[in-house]
Amino acid sequence: MNINNTYPFTYEPLPYEYDALEPYIDTETMHYHHDKHYKAYVDKLNAAVEANPQYKNWTLLRLLLNVDSLPSDFRTAVINNGGGVFNHELYFNSMGPDKTNPSTRMMNFIMESFGNYENFMKAIKAAALGQFGSGYGWLVQDGITKRLMVIATPNQDTVISLSMMPLLPLDVWEHAYYLKHKNERDKYIDDWFNVINWDWVEGQMED
Ligand code: MN
Repeated sequence: MNINNTYPFTYEPLPYEYDALEPYIDTETMHYHHDKHYKAYVDKLNAAVEANPQYKNWTLLRLLLNVDSLPSDFRTAVINNGGGVFNHELYFNSMGPDKTNPSTRMMNFIMESFGNYENFMKAIKAAALGQFGSGYGWLVQDGITKRLMVIATPNQDTVISLSMMPLLPLDVWEHAYYLKHKNERDKYIDDWFNVINWDWVEGQMED
């Protein structure tokens, strides 16, 4: 993860094989999504910092938490490409080939906030389907109450800028699903539920 790194930001390998999420998320989509789309965010973020070298010793976290203080052109590049780097690293790491279920501890948090797992699934699916255009559905942990919530964000906005801890991102940009699922975002979401790495999600939580 690049969040605590400074320039030059690195292009991180996919943490599993490209075909590992078949049949739910297809190999070709994973190649385009990781090797083309994610890499483009890394390259554009690095280019933006090169053009603003006074920020070369800022971590990605510091940049994202202080976007309001940045010069306007650089601010836009950080929101779009810095957000794109961070959100994609979360997305790729939050999935995996081995079917996992929430631990008892994780399930207790889910039940406390949503009543049961089915309600959580309905909530994140509704949020992700309701995100007009490109963006993400999220399971997040509120920074103050520590309770779990589902939200949606547009484009490459980050939830850390909303003082929330990202637990589980659901990328609903068309590049995440169009090759296989075409216009059927709902079918992609139904497939995505099968590749969540709940052990990783739980590791994101703050006590
Ligand atoms: Mn994406």
